[in-house]
Order: sequence, then C-alpha cells, then structure tokens
Amino acid sequence: MIVAERKPLNEIKSFVENYKKILIVGCGTCTTVCLAGGETEVKVVASGLRIGFLKEDKEIEILEDCATRQCEPEFVTEIVERVKKEGVEAVLSLGCGVGVNFMADKLETIPVFPGVNTEFFGAAVEPGVWVEMCAGCGNCILHLTGGICPIARCSKSILNGPCGGSKDGKCEISPDVDCGWNLIVERMKKMGTLQRLEEILPPRDWSTSHHGGPRRVIREEIVSLSQEGGESTKAKEAAKEKESGR
Ligand code: SF4
Ligand code: SF4
Repeated sequence: MIVAERKPLNEIKSFVENYKKILIVGCGTCTTVCLAGGETEVKVVASGLRIGFLKEDKEIEILEDCATRQCEPEFVTEIVERVKKEGVEAVLSLGCGVGVNFMADKLETIPVFPGVNTEFFGAAVEPGVWVEMCAGCGNCILHLTGGICPIARCSKSILNGPCGGSKDGKCEISPDVDCGWNLIVERMKKMGTLQRLEEILPPRDWSTSHHGGPRRVIREEIVSLSQEGGESTKAKEAAKEKESGR
C-alpha cells in the first residue's frame, strides 16, 4: 500500500485559514489502512481545526467527506460535484499525493491542499509499523534477489551487494536499519539459491523508473472497450434524438 503520515495540524491550518468554507476529504483505501487519512482522521483534523479557528474567532465552515478512493474518476466525481454544489472554496485532501493531484486536475481553479505526507510503498510489519518494500522501479528484479528488493531495501540501491558498510546484518546508515543485502543473502542461503548471486547484475536502465519522466500504463483492450462503449452510447443518443424529431 501507499504509506503516508498526517501533516502537523499547524501546517494544515496555515493552508486553509484564509477560506470561509473548506471540505476535508479522506481516502477509504491506503491512507485509511495506514491510519493517516481515513474517516477517523478526517474527524480528528476537522475537530482540531474547529478548535483552532474558534480560539482565533475565525468563522470557517468545515465540511467532512471520505471518498472510497481519491485516485479513481467515479469516486472523485462525487466530490467534485459536492464542491461545486455547496460552494466549497478549498479542499484539504487526506489521500496520498496521487489523490491530491487527481482532484486538483478535476477541480479546475479550486485549491486542493495536501493533509498528509506521502512516504512510500510499504507493508505493515507489526501493528503501527510500516516499512518501505518497493520503489516502483518499473522493471522488477525480485526473481533474482530472493523476493527482497535491493532498490527499496538497500540504502544505496546497489545491485551487487552487500557493500563494505554492512555489519552484523545492519546497514551502515543506522544500527536500526536492516541491511537489505544481508536479508537477500540470508534468504537465498535458506532457499539454497545463493549461487545465483555469483552472477554480477549489469547496470540498470533507470528509464523505466521515475528517472525516465512521468510514466503511464496503457491497456489497449480496456481503452478499445471503453471507446466502443462510448461510440455505442453516442449512437444510441443519436437514434433517440432522431426518433423524437429533435
Ligand atoms: S525491483 Fe523494482 S518493482 Fe521490484 S520490488 Fe524493487 S523497486 Fe519494486
Ligand atoms: S550496508 Fe547493506 S543496506 Fe546499507 S548500503 Fe550497504 S548493502 Fe545497502
């Protein structure tokens, strides 16, 4: 999942204090699961802001909502309609950065502010602890490294490790950080596949990662289906217009 952390309330307050009507929107997916921006956090932020504004004698109307996902058109459309219908002046999103971007694209000139800091793709390793596990490099090599990612879990993202800084299974950046390459070696040892690491991995082509610019995934079959659907809807509408003599 995408892991995020709520921004400090004072920072959030500074974003929205000059508007008369704001809408706080949580996201029902990743930021709910990592307890940063779901329905509960929307309530917490809304209460904190109300108390803060009350203390300063500021009259700001705060509305609350939570989209199932802020990164899909059908759920964002509902929010966009609400914003327009109810005259909301600014939106505070507790979705990840994707949600903020996507809503900003749809909301034209209405400002959308980030209420969380989006951190990484990670997993919950124990209650309340999330750890980065994938950096979304666009060309997965986990089949070569025992299922453990050297890009996300090695501090230097090296492909042929460990480096000379690995000590007692920990990374040289901190005794609290596992050496990703030590994890790889130990796992591959247990799996009986350690000899595979004797093959030196060549330098990576980073153009599949963010270094190659903003990425997109296109599934042609879905695109054609949706275009066909659009065309048949247009054809039905044209037939209806013809029937009614418009
Ligand atoms: S190799 Fe790339 S895609 Fe695979 S887990 Fe690591 S960062 Fe993610
Ligand atoms: S000590 Fe391990 S995790 Fe840290 S940079 Fe070196 S190989 Fe990577």
